[in-house]
Amino acid sequence: MDRNTALKYVVDAQGHSQGVFLDEELWRQVCSHVLAVLARNCPVEQLIPEPMADFELLEKYWDFRYELPSDVCCETCGASTPNWQTDEPRKFVLRAANMGGLLVFECKNCGSRITKRHFKDKVTVTCSAQGCSCV
Ligand SMILES: [Zn+2]
Repeated sequence: MDRNTALKYVVDAQGHSQGVFLDEELWRQVCSHVLAVLARNCPVEQLIPEPMADFELLEKYWDFRYELPSDVCCETCGASTPNWQTDEPRKFVLRAANMGGLLVFECKNCGSRITKRHFKDKVTVTCSAQGCSCV
């Protein structure tokens, strides 16, 4: 490894920093550490399937006098939709559903959890912001 060429700081034509260039040998020695830091700081969004079977059961056995509402609103960031299933791209992802009338959504914009509890005569909504770990 050549100390003079193993590590280069890359700048654009205006002199603004663009990053760092590592030669192959140096990269091989540090890549596992660098990739671990990258994974920790920028986790890949996991595609968790929505519990649609549970949601369909709730729809199937819905017997309240009002229609099952499809609107979702995030108090944290203000995102809202009249129908969470039809947004393109989706603004809210269903995270939990049960026949007791509970629906939990995740706001794709800010990660908040919106919990809707459906009762015979009312719907209660709570919104809890998720702490950000990337400070
Ligand atoms: Zn939000």
